[in-house]
Amino acid sequence: MSRRSEILAEMGLAPVWRLKGERTGVSREETILSMDWEKLKAKVKGCTDCKLRAGCTQTVLGVGDERAEWLLVGEAPGAEEDRLGEPFVGQAGKLLDNMLAAIDLKRGENVYIANVLKCRPPGNRNPEPDEVATCSPYLRRQIELIGPRLIVAMGRFAMQTLLDTDATIASLRGTVHRFAGVPLIVTYHPAYLLRNLPDKAKAWADLRFAVRTIASL
Ligand code: URA
Repeated sequence: MSRRSEILAEMGLAPVWRLKGERTGVSREETILSMDWEKLKAKVKGCTDCKLRAGCTQTVLGVGDERAEWLLVGEAPGAEEDRLGEPFVGQAGKLLDNMLAAIDLKRGENVYIANVLKCRPPGNRNPEPDEVATCSPYLRRQIELIGPRLIVAMGRFAMQTLLDTDATIASLRGTVHRFAGVPLIVTYHPAYLLRNLPDKAKAWADLRFAVRTIASL
């Protein structure tokens, strides 16, 4: 169990999303996990279930093909995403679009992009465990509704949340993991790559690994 899961357990917020059979049966979570797209969109739009909503402009659910084979998951909306209501539209988003283009993919075409958190944390600080716990059922339900063939977890938060681990990106790259049975690979977050240009080559290797993985499924 990751340290995050331990903290959540201590707070009485056991994660719902390890495997279906392990759900806690908490009614908010069960309700979210039974929603269709329309209900999920309305619920997220009006969500005030954690402290983040009070400090952001709007919720940012995700963007793209709602039956995409590729699902990319980041951390949380930043300033531009908060303003425009779409994930990855700032500098990191431009890099992400270029990375997608390099493997012949395009935002919205067989690709869906989401974040762990749907609200911008103040000052772009790291997500806190209770925020991740409250928001996680939304991502879980998105994944179930999309039914992707491959999930790409971008950055530490997406990876640690989806895989319930404290491991580093470096230690889990290059292997196919699973989230609720869906193959998942990990790579660096585009914003990290903007600050650490030499690691772009590793992200490029990860994307090629993702292409090979999806082709082999
Ligand atoms: N970083 C993220 O993790 N998500 C966004 O949507 C934008 C920047």
